[in-house]
Amino acid sequence: MFNKVLIANRGEIAARIIRTCKKMGIQTVAIYSEADENAPHTELADEAYLVGPAHVSKSYLNMPRILEVIKESGAEAVHPGYGLLSENSSFVAKLEEMGVTFIGPSSKVIDLMGDKAAARAFAQEAGVPVVPGSPGPVADDENAVKLAEEMGYPVLVKASGGGGGIGMQKAKKEKSLRKALDACRRRGESSFGNADVYLEKYIENPRHIEVQILADQSGNTLHLFERECSVQRRHQKVIEEAPSPLVSRIPGMREKLLNAAVTLAKKANYSNAGTVEFIADQSGNFYFIEMNTRLQVEHPITEMITGVDIVEWQLRIANGESLSLTQDDLSIDGHAIECRIYAENPDKMFMPAPGHIDDYEEPQGEGIRVDSGVKANWDITSYYDPMVSKISTHGSDREEARTRMIGALENYTIDGLTHNKAMHLDILQQEVFIEATYDTGWLEAHQKGK
Ligand code: ADP
Repeated sequence: MFNKVLIANRGEIAARIIRTCKKMGIQTVAIYSEADENAPHTELADEAYLVGPAHVSKSYLNMPRILEVIKESGAEAVHPGYGLLSENSSFVAKLEEMGVTFIGPSSKVIDLMGDKAAARAFAQEAGVPVVPGSPGPVADDENAVKLAEEMGYPVLVKASGGGGGIGMQKAKKEKSLRKALDACRRRGESSFGNADVYLEKYIENPRHIEVQILADQSGNTLHLFERECSVQRRHQKVIEEAPSPLVSRIPGMREKLLNAAVTLAKKANYSNAGTVEFIADQSGNFYFIEMNTRLQVEHPITEMITGVDIVEWQLRIANGESLSLTQDDLSIDGHAIECRIYAENPDKMFMPAPGHIDDYEEPQGEGIRVDSGVKANWDITSYYDPMVSKISTHGSDREEARTRMIGALENYTIDGLTHNKAMHLDILQQEVFIEATYDTGWLEAHQKGK
């Protein structure tokens, strides 16, 4: 096993990765920006190096400095967490040149899946259903308009390089389609350096369902069942559950869905942890939307229902170990729910609300897990994602996980800044949530109607 691993990330995910490294007896190296001096993740690590000013482009994305720190610290491997450099294939290539292991898949797979239009075509070739849409990037506006008319409106314009709900726009008619094409091209270029866009049929009231994959370098590929992430705002997840209530309700859906995800991962020669994302209609038809080639924010709920430490397997796989688990060793134990606690204002269009945390106390108890990277007397700044923590609960069934979550949130103190805890408590007690009849548009509509 590696002696020393550098975690090229911050906040809760850096802290979470450090925890597993410690459990495995691996030395940890943290990086931090000027805004993150004394951050919990730097205190947890064995060593910590300053990589630059607060702005991510000058610190957590500052490749030359991070590569320097890797050399200086003698780290043998790098865990990228999620976001930041986690899906940056040129970073992976640089590590390869230096003889440092990247804890994730190969740069080739990252490139393939990083281009969402190419990933879509690849999934189709693998026999995995995709949302009806353009076979690849659209050549020009006229072609896009023609295709939209054939498919029927509404359509969704997506940037090929997009992610995090950015570079995506719905169009109900030709005029708005032309505008959306323009806007998504510009957004794709400015945020991801890729102006290609493609079209998908807009699926009404869909559910977001994804499959956790774990694959070793010898081609052994497993799934760790599915998660449902349909409670969203701005196309971003707010509450996730495992297993999916929709999949559990529809006979035969789980097997088909899990098979599709494993087939795709195998065809891509995928190794390490990854997530195949789908949207589904309420009758259980599902369509591939993308594959995330990294650890996912919502991985804790999968760990809770399977008992597998996904980060531990990421490290072992990156170190060349074969999976000792088989599919038959894995089963679903109960139900888990994750609530993402953000410093944001749900009553003001979920606007980020950075600020100072005065008092802070996390809930504890049976079936409760907290992933956080904050503390009392700490600032949530506008430089980074305003996530405070992830609260996850596990129960023998969904109702137990739900009531545990309510109890956990009631016992959670975050004083001094605006956050969305009360919104979570409200959602958890809504009939639509209790019955799990929600879709990806439900939360925004519910908030507007309040
Ligand atoms: P990103 O890479 O930006 O996260 P995704 O393609 O994964 O974008 O989609 C994010 C979310 O956008 C989905 O969970 C879903 O809510 C919505 N979405 C994506 N594609 C469609 C579609 N074809 N129809 C309706 N909603 C969609």
